[in-house]
Amino acid sequence: METRLRIAVQSKGRLYDETMELLGEAGIKLTAVKRTLLVPSRNFPVELLFLRDDDIPDSVASGIADIGIVGLNEVLEKDKNVEILKELGFSRCHLSLAIPKRIDYTGLEWFNNRKIATSYPVILSKFLKEKGINADIHVITGSVEIAPGIGLADAIFDIVSSGSTLVSNNLTEVENVLDSQAVLISSGKKKLIEEKQAILDELLFRFDAVKAADGKKYILMNVPREKLDNVLSVLPGIKSPTILPLANNDWCSIHTVIEEKRFWEIIGRLRAEGAEGILALDIEKMIL
Ligand code: ATP
Ligand code: MG
Repeated sequence: METRLRIAVQSKGRLYDETMELLGEAGIKLTAVKRTLLVPSRNFPVELLFLRDDDIPDSVASGIADIGIVGLNEVLEKDKNVEILKELGFSRCHLSLAIPKRIDYTGLEWFNNRKIATSYPVILSKFLKEKGINADIHVITGSVEIAPGIGLADAIFDIVSSGSTLVSNNLTEVENVLDSQAVLISSGKKKLIEEKQAILDELLFRFDAVKAADGKKYILMNVPREKLDNVLSVLPGIKSPTILPLANNDWCSIHTVIEEKRFWEIIGRLRAEGAEGILALDIEKMIL
């Protein structure tokens, strides 16, 4: 039987879409349209094990899956023997302490002898211990943010992304304890067999190529030769842009890659320096 690297992924929820998108961009196509628990790829030696995100760290630590894609918050909370191989840059959120808006927050000592509701008791107790705060941790699994409003707790420790849930519950974030994102994990103790390690290496290589292209644009433009030096001085930090001749000898074409976040600034300066016919294209992969 062919060796397959088994990847534990979330079956549905906030990690699912971007996990599938990353795998898709890495060229991995799945067999079954209908989602079953274990789905092999039809063009790459991996199979996906669909689980609740809570179960992913343990499935990897115990060797049921070879690697997994899960939020760092879940990895730290479950505290299993896993190794973080790569930060994947999506599903970003943070774990924060929040208190009712009306309270005048004086600093961490405020939490002494308070009751904090959370679904993340492991991360919270570690944090409080480090800071020398003695609080009462009250574990609830869902709707943590309503706890202060109904008198169940003085404060909460929960996931925050936009903060709108906090606002609608009259809470305000006072301490950001952990910045989280999706991470790729492997077992902390078991080494992969050689064939599986080779599959993992290829996968990591592809993920890097997808990530490198993220937020970048390929641009090409026509420039009068006499203005070439001025235009090149605008293009930031690129080793050596491609310069091609055009049928009209007084003009040439420049091709290069720029950061999307500086796109409009750079385009404006290029135009001011005499660049014309500027085209911008999405980059799918970038092998550095
Ligand atoms: P499951 O059914 O798999 O247990 P879940 O309800 O525990 O799912 P989701 O709400 O799907 O979990 O969130 C999965 C992960 O997505 C979180 O653990 C966190 O890492 C990340 N995440 C990113 N943004 C948010 C957000 N705004 N709210 C909650 N989680 C977020
Ligand atoms: Mg969960």
